[in-house]
Amino acid sequence: MDKFHDECGVFGIYGHPEAAALARLGLYALQHRGQESAGIATADGERLHLTRAMGQVSEVFDEGALAGLVGDMAIGHVRYSTAGDSLVVNAQPLLIACVHGEIALCHNGNLVNAADLRADLVRQGHIFQTTSDTEVVLVLYARSKAPTPQDAIVESVTQVRGAFSLVLLTKDHLIAVRDPHGFRPLVVGALGDATVVCSETCALDLIGARYVRDVEPGEVLVIDGAGSRSYRPFPSAQRLHCVFEHVYFARPDSLVFGQSVNEVRTNLGRLLAREAPADADVVVPIPDSGMCAAVGYAEESGLPIRMGLIRNHYVGRTFIAPQQEIRGFRVRIKLNPVRSILEGKRVILVDDSIVRGTTSRKIVGMVRAAGAREIHMRISCPPTVAPCYYGIDTPQRSELIGANKTVDEIREFMKSDTLAYLSLDGLRQAVGPRSGDYCTSCYTGDYPVEVPKDSDVYMQMALKLPDGQG
Ligand code: AMP
Repeated sequence: MDKFHDECGVFGIYGHPEAAALARLGLYALQHRGQESAGIATADGERLHLTRAMGQVSEVFDEGALAGLVGDMAIGHVRYSTAGDSLVVNAQPLLIACVHGEIALCHNGNLVNAADLRADLVRQGHIFQTTSDTEVVLVLYARSKAPTPQDAIVESVTQVRGAFSLVLLTKDHLIAVRDPHGFRPLVVGALGDATVVCSETCALDLIGARYVRDVEPGEVLVIDGAGSRSYRPFPSAQRLHCVFEHVYFARPDSLVFGQSVNEVRTNLGRLLAREAPADADVVVPIPDSGMCAAVGYAEESGLPIRMGLIRNHYVGRTFIAPQQEIRGFRVRIKLNPVRSILEGKRVILVDDSIVRGTTSRKIVGMVRAAGAREIHMRISCPPTVAPCYYGIDTPQRSELIGANKTVDEIREFMKSDTLAYLSLDGLRQAVGPRSGDYCTSCYTGDYPVEVPKDSDVYMQMALKLPDGQG
């Protein structure tokens, strides 16, 4: 385990009699952001109520599970994590009671100084109950001498660094916070008189809410009976939106960082076709992640696009299985080639990204076995050469094939006839004129916000102090 592994979706709603039911719907729309645990906390003006468990939204929240979640305010969370960290105590919302009253917290992102802060706090006698970086925020909150809960939140969030899109719930406030770089998305919507905050606009669409705006980088948005107020307690900072949200992570029907994911993803495919054409008969997307880019590639190249691989939708994301062997097996459960489309053809396979390379290798093998004459693999982003410390789960560098092999060596490994990735310039062009606002550290290895030494983070995971006193 090299670091925290969190990919999450958050949702919050203020001022609706069916807050918990709407939160559940919102989490359904955000399920792609995390499938290992789900949770909802509600507030009824006096106290907080919480249900969270391992599993997907449909497993955690049947009708009965919503019964205790009373109140017209709710926050919810879906979380992905890998094995070591995959514990129900880490499922969110995290809820504590302290001198400021009860508070529940949902976090999408990754705090790069959590290990240091936590080590200091442990030395001072604080007890931690989870291995999640997020708990640090709650401990800082509980320690704050600030006069109001809102001030205490501001005091605690200004001490953490890294990526954080947070939604918090007190007995009578919904609060949304976005880190000053705006790494992860967070949007505000309106549903009648109710206010909604969530990771992606697809959750607003599902509940019939209207997209109002993004929570701005560095904004603390407080919503209560008096309306909503914004605070800007952070020094201004460079925008560093995660470009991988557009490449893979967000849903294509969402607006993320003010841009249509579908539009950006289709552009990635168009530019890829311009940069890396191939003499071929057919473009085949690797579903679902390669769909939009394949459409763009086909449009630009003038080649037909065909569904030469069919996905079984009842299997979760490949990465859900933590061990390498199981991951390989899952590719076959998930995808089946269509012989009538592939046989005798020169095929362009389009996917969004390669991480370890095992998925692509399996797919190339399957497509070859289904009779394809040539296979040209096209990837709609540059090689992933460095792990993400800002909230996307990527394995450590040693497991990233792009960090350890040349493009030609990767082609050899996956046994395709050709392989090409989109260039970094192409990626920047695809997101358009605001490309300077994006973080591309997974493609460059340049980390714009200092990242922890792997060993420190490892120790935090193991609940130990860096000096071994933990
Ligand atoms: P791999 O076999 O490790 O190369 O897996 C690559 C596949 O995983 C691609 O089809 C991607 O769509 C998908 N993928 C890329 N990054 C992630 C991630 N952070 N979490 C889950 N899936 C991912």
